[in-house]
Amino acid sequence: MTELLVATHNAHKKEEIQQMLGEGFWVRSLADYDLHEEIVEDGNTFSENAKIKAKYCFEKTGIPSLGDDSGLVVEALDGRPGIFSARYAGDHDFGKNIAKVLEEMNGKTNRRAYFVTVLCYYSEAGASYFEGRVYGNLLAENKGHKGFGYDPIFVPEGHEITFAQMEAEEKNQISHRRRAMDDFLMFLASKESEK
Ligand code: IMP
Repeated sequence: MTELLVATHNAHKKEEIQQMLGEGFWVRSLADYDLHEEIVEDGNTFSENAKIKAKYCFEKTGIPSLGDDSGLVVEALDGRPGIFSARYAGDHDFGKNIAKVLEEMNGKTNRRAYFVTVLCYYSEAGASYFEGRVYGNLLAENKGHKGFGYDPIFVPEGHEITFAQMEAEEKNQISHRRRAMDDFLMFLASKESEK
């Protein structure tokens, strides 16, 4: 079984990744290695932040590690909130973050945006990156109560409802996280076939 350390303190994220990777992988998280310090994500891009997390884990443990960074990129806001998505209005309050985005979007006709996830896999071979995006449009008000973050204002392309109105299974099939993970899985499969 291949051990993989995921740079997260979040047990739910660890479980989700374990499910996506399946039985051939033994997914561990920071807590399993008694790593409790906050990793400072001071990169300027999603990739830099994902790498900071993965590299930290690999250097602490020697176990191949996966770091991730996600966010919402809005065309009419020159890419904001981007890497600042989690704390756009100052703290981790989803409601305030949405309110700030909606205020900045006031009067804008271009409502195009995308969610992105960048994964960085760090091993003795160095860093490899995987990316997933889902494009869509921003509403002018919240719709739906499921999900988290900016889900209530984001309608993915080809759909009539927001991520927050979808069942988790439906969102998870088309999400940026899913797509980045699929990209990573293809990489792992190709490494496996080289053996
Ligand atoms: P993280 O890198 O996965 O922690 O995501 C950073 C921030 O981006 C979150 O706090 C959310 O504000 C936003 N975000 C990332 N993924 C999603 C999503 O699937 N739905 C809504 N917001 C998201």
